[in-house]
Amino acid sequence: MRRVVVVGGGIAGIYFAYRLLQATEAEVLLVEPKPVHEFVIGIPMAYGGLVDFKDLIFPLTQMRRVKHVWDHAVALDGGCVRLSSSQSACGDYVVLAPGSYKLGTAEYWSVEGSEKLYGLMKKAKAVRFVVSEFTPVIGFQEMAYAVKTRFPDKEVSIHLVYVSDDYQFLLEPWKAKAKEAGVEVTDDPPSHKAVDELHISVPAVRPHPLAAGLDLRPETLETQYDRVYLIGDSALLKLGLPPIGWGSLWQASIVAQAIASEISRGYIDISPDEWSSQTDADSFKRWLTYRMVTGTPLVHLKGLYHIWARDVVSSL
Ligand SMILES: Cc1cc2nc3c(=O)[nH]c(=O)nc-3n(C[C@H](O)[C@H](O)[C@H](O)COP(=O)(O)OP(=O)(O)OC[C@H]3O[C@@H](n4cnc5c(N)ncnc54)[C@H](O)[C@@H]3O)c2cc1C
Repeated sequence: MRRVVVVGGGIAGIYFAYRLLQATEAEVLLVEPKPVHEFVIGIPMAYGGLVDFKDLIFPLTQMRRVKHVWDHAVALDGGCVRLSSSQSACGDYVVLAPGSYKLGTAEYWSVEGSEKLYGLMKKAKAVRFVVSEFTPVIGFQEMAYAVKTRFPDKEVSIHLVYVSDDYQFLLEPWKAKAKEAGVEVTDDPPSHKAVDELHISVPAVRPHPLAAGLDLRPETLETQYDRVYLIGDSALLKLGLPPIGWGSLWQASIVAQAIASEISRGYIDISPDEWSSQTDADSFKRWLTYRMVTGTPLVHLKGLYHIWARDVVSSL
């Protein structure tokens, strides 16, 4: 049986494994340094009180069809991934999905970190997100929206002091919704910090060190190394797209279909679905803009969460 090594059990890695095993038989090794998968896209739902923080954590010991290799990948070595334990995980295919590297102190991209931050927000009279990074870690808008909806008396504001043009198309449709919810969005920095105010300096994202030196074919997401693919936040950043979960699902879906068809039929064949019909970076950007304009983030997320818990994670 063909072996597929997946590095990273986040949104991209888990969705890839699910789509692959839906379509074909394969031995899947998942290299992930944590004992759990975290549904980080859903963190704003916990802020809004729609789920508990602990509901966003899925133990990897529950997996029956995927073998968890509890380790860090440190380098790529042909069809093998070198691990921090100095062993290697080798396969016919390698799919790298290690997420992105975050620069900054306010941690809200892990369930534990975001729960701590939520505790601080609950106590504060005003919560102000200050964005002054070329590529900020996404999610601050949904968190602001959720906190304001849950605690209407709190002052919640977003200060877009600086953000790259690549993000503007993503934030623009959201601004109107923020206004409706009572979240102030401004280009000015907050004037001063009162004692009971919480200022959150939104961190930046960069490609993960494992993705350094990798070239990416935008249509197939294959790297310059045969049968080595890169998906998720780092791949999106390399394509000049904002690193968001919808993008990870799109990429995971394409690569899963490509590998599954090659394993079962000997050639690559991708049939379009909601995700994989986005065939390149530009069509993804158009589709995403449409989705951001028409969607209500928390409602979309709740639907995705149900599918995730009921179908995706439980099938692995
Ligand atoms: C608060 C918040 C809200 C968000 N809301 C939305 C939203 O509403 N819509 C949306 O589309 N996106 C949203 N996002 C963005 C979305 O969560 C990310 O884009 C998505 O999680 C990226 O998936 P990924 O698999 O690439 O990375 P991750 O989900 O970060 O997973 C990466 C995994 O790789 C593992 N890893 C790291 N290094 C190694 C290594 N060396 N070896 C092996 N494994 C490694 C990590 O432990 C992790 O499990 C939000 C993000 C946050 C923080």
